[in-house]
Amino acid sequence: MSVPPFGYDKIEIVGDKGFTLQPNENAKTIEIIYKWYIEGDGSTVIAKKLDSMKISPRHGGMWSKATITDILKNPVYMGMVRWGYKKEKKTYVDGVLKKTRTKNSDDYIFVKGIHPAIISEEDFNKAQIKRQQNTHQCTTPHNELKNPLAGLIYCQKCGGLMSRMGSNKKNKYDNIYCPNRYCDNVAAPVFMIEKAIISVLSDRLRDFKVEVDFTINNEREQAIKNSVLDDLSRSHNVIEKQISQTYDLLEQQLYTADLFKQRNQELQQRKEEIEKAIEKINSEEKSKVDQKYYVEEFIPQIKDVVSLYFNIPTVQGKNDVLKTILKRLYIIKKKPIQGGMSLMKTSK
Ligand SMILES: [Zn+2]
Repeated sequence: MSVPPFGYDKIEIVGDKGFTLQPNENAKTIEIIYKWYIEGDGSTVIAKKLDSMKISPRHGGMWSKATITDILKNPVYMGMVRWGYKKEKKTYVDGVLKKTRTKNSDDYIFVKGIHPAIISEEDFNKAQIKRQQNTHQCTTPHNELKNPLAGLIYCQKCGGLMSRMGSNKKNKYDNIYCPNRYCDNVAAPVFMIEKAIISVLSDRLRDFKVEVDFTINNEREQAIKNSVLDDLSRSHNVIEKQISQTYDLLEQQLYTADLFKQRNQELQQRKEEIEKAIEKINSEEKSKVDQKYYVEEFIPQIKDVVSLYFNIPTVQGKNDVLKTILKRLYIIKKKPIQGGMSLMKTSK
């Protein structure tokens, strides 16, 4: 600890080799910074207030937001000291287990120091809660979505949701990989999958175009269908009349009981056949209504995605747009030697 934290002086421990901290006249400034912050002032406001009160930071000049934030998160002010330790980290490098000691500066714990606190533990914790709330309010780059395919890509081999791995020394691009370590699906660059999705979608559009053209060309077929439907319902009426006639004829004793039964059965059977035929045509109509939804709503959505996707400026925006038309996308990537990646199936 070469430079003591603002608000403390470094003093020698009498009769020992070590040093400890003693609050100095700046401890009052520390107190006031915490007080204001807990009361609701932001770091920038506090910096301005201190400047206007002619209270200077350690090296003079103006207060900065960062300096205030550093003070607000330093547990030394509640009497704690940072005690660094190096965590053992196991990694596999080329299939060989390697144990490394991390040099990550986050690997430390706080222990009670021997120096006097300036801020109570309670106030320090209040300030930490405030800090968390404040960081969550504004979208920091840390919270920004980094994977445009988040929540969409599933592994064709094991069915699991695939994750993004940021680019690193080994991988030039962000990759989508299967986090299931027992699965051997090969990772694929995010940009490659994006391209594949858009190309699959535009292929889909071509299919739809064929269907739409087909529908339009079949207006004549529709007219025929309508006249068939008319005929069927007319026949249906006639048969119903005939059925009721069989009862009249039976009543008038022009039909014997056997003849009535036979005639009635024949007519009921024909009636059912006609009803089935009508039902069949009507269900075809229903599927046309579904197709109408595709033509009028779903296809324009896909068209928008295909033409706009690569112009969407934010990753979040890309992800939102993809989610409007896709639910799950299963991918499998063939080994580079065989080349290519195939998008197996999409589902809405
Ligand atoms: Zn998998």
